[in-house]
Amino acid sequence: MLMVKKQIVMLPGDGIGPEVLAAAEAVIRALPELDFTLVEHPCGAGEYLRNGDPLPAATIEACRKADAILLGAMGIPDVRWADGREMAPQIDIREILGLYAGVRPTKTYNAAHSPLKQSTIDYVLVRESTEGLFSTRLRPRDKTANEVRDEMLVTRAGSERLFHFSFRLAQTRRRKLTLVDKANVLPSMAFFREIFDEVAKQYPDVETERIYVDAMALYLVQRPERFDVMVTENMFGDILSDLAAATVGGMGMAPSADIGDHHAVFQPAHGSAPDIAGQGKANPVATILSVAMMLEWFGEAECITAAKKIRSAVERVLTDPNHATPDLRGSLKTNEMTDLIVSAL
Ligand code: ATP
Repeated sequence: MLMVKKQIVMLPGDGIGPEVLAAAEAVIRALPELDFTLVEHPCGAGEYLRNGDPLPAATIEACRKADAILLGAMGIPDVRWADGREMAPQIDIREILGLYAGVRPTKTYNAAHSPLKQSTIDYVLVRESTEGLFSTRLRPRDKTANEVRDEMLVTRAGSERLFHFSFRLAQTRRRKLTLVDKANVLPSMAFFREIFDEVAKQYPDVETERIYVDAMALYLVQRPERFDVMVTENMFGDILSDLAAATVGGMGMAPSADIGDHHAVFQPAHGSAPDIAGQGKANPVATILSVAMMLEWFGEAECITAAKKIRSAVERVLTDPNHATPDLRGSLKTNEMTDLIVSAL
């Protein structure tokens, strides 16, 4: 058998991050076609407590050299910068490596996990990840001021690359792309829509529609089955992707990829979940599905086959209603769910 060699940087981070990355490692080790070197690097609020920097330069350097990065979760609630913000090296990495496309797939594996009891949810939200309403997040705040502003940054170059990415993704699926914006109120969003309309002309094979973000929140609950690929700005995507995750069982079911032109980070869409950290309660499925996304992004035939095996193993395991972690109203521990998926592989 031909074995694919890759260098993967692992950033376990904080809270449940190390617990779910252990599941990712177990799955990678169970696939004989993968000869992956997995090297851990420090990053996160815990690293700040240890050495004074949540994202050491050596970690960034290792990320630049790696074939891909697998990230657990970052953040400890009471470890904050002086202005009150939580440390978010996972967002810094997106900006440093130019990972502009936040790819958030939402899919039902078992209708019983969905509060909507929907078995037909299968769409991908693409969230712009380097500008939008997060653009001024690092601006120092004057604590004496009675007015604070955050700016919504929309650039032509940033939007064009995002839309091209989204149209190309739509071409690999059901050829339908929905723009989610607030073009009826915000000038930045009207600009965003104009650029979308221009780029759309280059993809006549993809059907397009435009929906305001408030209506989208409604439709994701009322009629999620009608969507395939959606694209939106950073903050709207942040909010809608958590809503989307809830419709298929919660954050433990939501994988993600942050993709740029040269690098990519794969991680569960959830945070460090301090409420359940260290208790073996974390659902590892989001992380395991993120590994499948990484393999698909690599693109080699062996990787695509391995990704298919992971997806099929997850599907088979989750079909059984007894196979559920506490977030899915079951009692399996993180390692028990991981073992079931590894056995199914
Ligand atoms: P962030 O802002 O860093 O994305 P957050 O504050 O939005 O994080 P999460 O850490 O994602 O929050 O947790 C939100 C809820 O989802 C918590 O109740 C947490 O326990 C739950 N949760 C998150 N991830 C998992 C998981 N893998 N398995 C089970 N429950 C999870």
